[in-house]
Amino acid sequence: MEQTGIFAQSTYTIDDLQLFQDCDHGALAPLLANCAILRLADGELLEDSARARLFIVLSGALAVSADVEAGAGDGVASRILPGESAGEQAVLDDSANLSAMAAVGSTELLVIDAELVWTLIDKSGGLARNLLRMLSFRVRAANAQLRRGQKLGEFYRKMSMNDGLTGLYNRTWLADMLPKMVATAQRAGTPLSLLMIDLDHFKTFNDTHGHLTGDDALRAAAGVVGVALRPSDFAVRYGGEEMMVLLPETSELLAVMVAERLVARMRETMIFPDMRQPLPHITASVGVAVLAEGMDDLGLIAAADAALYRAKNGGRDQVAL
Ligand code: GH3
Ligand code: MG
Ligand code: MG
Repeated sequence: MEQTGIFAQSTYTIDDLQLFQDCDHGALAPLLANCAILRLADGELLEDSARARLFIVLSGALAVSADVEAGAGDGVASRILPGESAGEQAVLDDSANLSAMAAVGSTELLVIDAELVWTLIDKSGGLARNLLRMLSFRVRAANAQLRRGQKLGEFYRKMSMNDGLTGLYNRTWLADMLPKMVATAQRAGTPLSLLMIDLDHFKTFNDTHGHLTGDDALRAAAGVVGVALRPSDFAVRYGGEEMMVLLPETSELLAVMVAERLVARMRETMIFPDMRQPLPHITASVGVAVLAEGMDDLGLIAAADAALYRAKNGGRDQVAL
């Protein structure tokens, strides 16, 4: 880092600097006469932990990456270009500059000490206004970045809780939620019903129509399940062609009705929206179980499994309790 006096080569004019736009240059320029110019080589880090200072890029650029202490480290850096400045916030709230700043290409910076920044603000309303505007842009950009980060977080959370093929909840979600739902039902003494759904002869379906059509059929079946439920119910892809439906506060009678409706709709489902194609159809068998006193989540699943087994043995395409 090499420092020399301000405007020594006088290649820069005050008009080029955002901070001084529409200000009384005659009054302000002399105040900058003693400011230093910092020269950084490409990639060189700007060390600025000791005291707050304002940096104005005269040539080259500064890459500023997010709050180093927050450990963001997401690699997202904004670029400060000639005429723009960095470090306003640190100067204004008199704190250390937490951003990591590095030169992009050979870079020259005008350095204004915090004290002088305050003098400039006192002297020039125009400069104060420019500073506010610059800060406002920066806050907006930071907010936008925050929102993008939140959206990304939600996206990944959803990805990890939902099955990719059907969009239904996956086993990870089930392992997290079912014990909670069972505990809630046991505590409140409300019924909790569980449907175990297994597509019939699905291996044959795959063998006959191909695995890709099998995937379409699975998606269609998941759609049937999803549409048939109330907002308080949950559908899970439990295994390959096995789905599970959780019905909180639902009695045995009602659960069987829901199951019957699912089996009927499954029978009528069209796998291809194109009517000219032959219509392979799918059927499903459903086992219904209701949480009994002292039963845990695994017991409830086992009971539904046993019921499903009976539905299969009974000839498939039907509901068993
Ligand atoms: P059953 O009526 O007794 O349930 O007969 P089944 O053929 O459905 O039973 P089985 O469990 O033997 O076979 C399930 C088949 O489901 C086997 C597998 O190829 C198919 N399957 C599982 N997951 C997927 C998937 O993601 N996509 C497709 N296309 N097929 C799947
Ligand atoms: Mg199966
Ligand atoms: Mg099956």
